[in-house]
Amino acid sequence: MQFEPVIGLEVHAQLKTKTKIFCGCSTEFGKPPNANTCPVCTGMPGVLPVLNRQVVTFAIKAALATHCKINKESRFDRKNYFYPDLPKGYQISQYALPIAEHGYLGIETSSPKKIGITRIHMEEDAGKLIHDPARARSMVDLNRTGVPLIEIVSEPDIRTPKEAGVYLRKLHSILKYIDVCDGNMEEGSFRCDANISLRPAGQKEFGTRAELKNLNSFKNVEKAISYEIERQTYVLEEGNQVIQETRLWDPSKNKTTSMRGKEEAHDYRYFPDPDLVPLILDDKWIQDVEKDMPELPDEKRSRFTKEYKLADYDAKVLTSSIELANFFEETAAPLKDKKLAANWVMTTLLGMLNSKGITISESPVKAPAFSKLLQMIEDKKINASAAKTVFEEMVESLKNPESIVKEKRLEQVSDQSELETMVQDVITENPDEVLAYKNGKTKLFSFFMGRIMKKTRGKADPKIVTQLLKNKLK
Ligand code: ADP
Ligand code: MG
Ligand code: ZN
Repeated sequence: MQFEPVIGLEVHAQLKTKTKIFCGCSTEFGKPPNANTCPVCTGMPGVLPVLNRQVVTFAIKAALATHCKINKESRFDRKNYFYPDLPKGYQISQYALPIAEHGYLGIETSSPKKIGITRIHMEEDAGKLIHDPARARSMVDLNRTGVPLIEIVSEPDIRTPKEAGVYLRKLHSILKYIDVCDGNMEEGSFRCDANISLRPAGQKEFGTRAELKNLNSFKNVEKAISYEIERQTYVLEEGNQVIQETRLWDPSKNKTTSMRGKEEAHDYRYFPDPDLVPLILDDKWIQDVEKDMPELPDEKRSRFTKEYKLADYDAKVLTSSIELANFFEETAAPLKDKKLAANWVMTTLLGMLNSKGITISESPVKAPAFSKLLQMIEDKKINASAAKTVFEEMVESLKNPESIVKEKRLEQVSDQSELETMVQDVITENPDEVLAYKNGKTKLFSFFMGRIMKKTRGKADPKIVTQLLKNKLK
């Protein structure tokens, strides 16, 4: 029997506020345990939460960027459960009336597709347990308790691990574009749970789902879903049933294992938090956020094709992250030839980042220096092959391109008479090849080119040399 996977993703994104959602404690990462705490976020009796206005503004931004309908009235609810990293015994979240609903995200795999967004709600994060097996103890760090999150829940519209990866990368990119989340997956600022079930091809009803946790990279999300599709297929083919449960992805073993039975919503005894009034948004608040919305990836992509005349694919690659888009635009700004900038960013720069396994913000070559390098190509001061050499040196030594060109004496030779002499020399030195060429062995053209490049140590302007050679060999 053929089974069709059904996948829905829940994303928790930490918002980039300076302070927590219901108290004034700092949200700074990496502080000593419990340095960022106060009576409110440690859940002391008698304290009262006060909502951080910036959290709401960020949630509205995320809602607008994902085409959600914003609820002018929303509520905070208590989600009750016990865990040592949750001192209050409940998490303040939004349940019945979230801030936003009914949105979508456009993704592209082989064809474009819309993935529905069920809801976006605001909530507080829990703390963290630090296990110390050597001394058989665990410790609690409450720095993260009360740090603001939005949870973005997708409809079960995703059908393949690939689509899940594309959706997540797009969502990640959008949250960074609108500057509400730093997107750091290692620090847990962007976390994803994947829900997956199978159903017989053609069946309408969904099958029983498993929820996968501990997916801390895009690659792991795709791998975990693929594994789970295989596992559930096997369960069903054996005539058994998939159990509704939470499963943990183990990246070292490349498999998921059962963690616990999946709780149902009613297990949490959700109820409206009596310490917080309903949140009412006035039109002005929403309009102000709307006015402040930056250009989103899809808009930027279409502007790049129009303004810089880039191919759609190139525009897509260059707008895939805000850092890359900014790097490209900064590089291209002083150049006449925008495609030159696009090509060099996509091949040379991205190639270097890939091979070093670093991100663009960690690039040893920044946009202004990269742009200088390309300006030298455009001004015919160096040719493309010399520019590659200069770039490699920039990566290694962090020197500016002008001084590398001087030091290595890489200035392009484009002096007409100087090149003409060299072309003549090469022709005189290789009479046999000249004869063969004239008798139809035109492939030898590159042989002559090679000789001239050798004489100039790769610095000759290839266009001028081609022209000169053609004339002389006629
Ligand atoms: P929770 O996991 O907290 O109970 P929800 O009921 O809102 O939350 O569902 C969470 C996610 O599970 C959503 O992204 C939804 O699209 C997805 N989902 C629901 N049912 C299925 C199913 N049968 N198969 C796969 N995904 C599903
Ligand atoms: Mg869930
Ligand atoms: Zn606090």
